Amino acid sequence: MTQRNKTAVIGGGMAGCAAAKELLKSGVDVVVYEASPGLGGRARSWHRAEIEPDVGVNLWFTSFYRIMFDRIREYGLEDQLVDMSNNVIVVDDGTPAELLSDSLRSLFRYPHVPLRDRIRFLTATAKETLRRRQLDIFDPLKLAPFDDGTTAAQYGRKILSRRGFDSLLRPEIESFWLWSCEEISAAHVRAMQAQVAGAKFYVFLNGMEVIAERNAEGADIRLEHEVTNLQMDGDGVLVSARDAGGTVSEERFDDVVVATTAPVAAKLTAALPTGTVSQDIREFLESQRYEPALSVSYLVDYSSMPSEAHIVAAGADDPPVKTIITFPRQVRDEEGRPVDKHLAFVYPGRAATRRLLGLPAEEQFAETSRLVTRLWPDFPADAEPFQIAERPHAMPVPEPGRYRRSARVIRQQRGPVVFAGDYFTSPISEAAMLSGMRAAEALTAVSR
Ligand SMILES: Cc1cc2nc3c(=O)[nH]c(=O)nc-3n(C[C@H](O)[C@H](O)[C@H](O)COP(=O)(O)OP(=O)(O)OC[C@H]3O[C@@H](n4cnc5c(N)ncnc54)[C@H](O)[C@@H]3O)c2cc1C
Repeated sequence: MTQRNKTAVIGGGMAGCAAAKELLKSGVDVVVYEASPGLGGRARSWHRAEIEPDVGVNLWFTSFYRIMFDRIREYGLEDQLVDMSNNVIVVDDGTPAELLSDSLRSLFRYPHVPLRDRIRFLTATAKETLRRRQLDIFDPLKLAPFDDGTTAAQYGRKILSRRGFDSLLRPEIESFWLWSCEEISAAHVRAMQAQVAGAKFYVFLNGMEVIAERNAEGADIRLEHEVTNLQMDGDGVLVSARDAGGTVSEERFDDVVVATTAPVAAKLTAALPTGTVSQDIREFLESQRYEPALSVSYLVDYSSMPSEAHIVAAGADDPPVKTIITFPRQVRDEEGRPVDKHLAFVYPGRAATRRLLGLPAEEQFAETSRLVTRLWPDFPADAEPFQIAERPHAMPVPEPGRYRRSARVIRQQRGPVVFAGDYFTSPISEAAMLSGMRAAEALTAVSR
């Protein structure tokens, strides 16, 4: 039995930093390699001094995120929480209607689907809510038994009419995650239904990355260090990393947590022996698909848009624009006085996103401005283009059967190389943290 003292965490996102915290707690020395200039990965916001608060894309979390709330209490971050209203507006053929997850009244008044579907939706939600503990949206070990090969669309059409599904359940899923319900496991939708009733929504005043940063405190954090190669060295692993200046350095570790997206993880570990990364794990990593995301933001006059709103498209088609999210912000006028505005984030649909990724920002703004009125006809013509965030690997797709495969891989994980990331479950920061904690546990639970 050997004491394993030194672990490299590759990727300083929510998963990697959560893993770092657990490893540090068990007395291991941790080095976090992060390719970008800051921690937080996809949960990291961008910051611009001319808006207040200065955060751009600000990720939501809900009252049912358990690890997140434990950390908030542990780090005394309660004063960083900002309540957000859950103001979902579903637009069907140009007609908007409110649909709030915490209001029965809004469900019963919802005009886009027949009353029979609203009652069936309520009954199905109540049924899943009773299974809340098992239908845990963050945990593939619990979700695996529900992942029976059925797609979300098949499930939705079983409990609702076609119209009921396309204008009630589908927009609630597709506008938040951008996938098509035809491509994802019914287990994801059922878990969402089980958790969301009555949930409260929050953002962090200065961005969610604060949790990643606090989790990694105590580790040796190497920002702008991209890991380029992993190689076995006896029973340890040699990690090669390139810094911002292009210098490549090598260091030996007892163990490694690979906490990047799945394609990067597959590439970095492709040459390791199958005794270290099994064929099953390798195939799992290589088979993960991601939906890309393009977030195109504008500053608009406060009164021109509903506030703290998720404006989403109804219907089965992939629309030109899927979602608009509005966050209140202040900017300074010429005299330095604060003026209320909205930062409106526009998410083009799946096909439009693929078409626009990688184009120059002016073209992305021009095309999005042209498309956005198809979802929200009153989107102000004088909206001021502000910032674009591109994520080619945004949302890992929970294909039918994926939770069962994740659960199998989690049970197989053992050192010196383990994996963590939201592709084990869903693109949710809480799920990413849980996967990081599990990866750390796989290294520390057994002395090897
Ligand atoms: C548009 C969008 C909106 C979202 N909204 C929400 C939301 O509202 N609420 C919510 O809870 N979740 C949301 N999510 C999901 C959430 O952001 C992710 O699930 C979570 O951040 C994933 O964390 P991760 O650690 O698994 O991966 P990542 O965040 O991708 O972290 C991986 C890290 O590895 C680094 N890396 C990659 N390659 C290397 C290398 N070779 N060497 C070193 N470092 C490397 C990357 O730079 C990155 O920092 C959203 C995601 C997107 C894309």
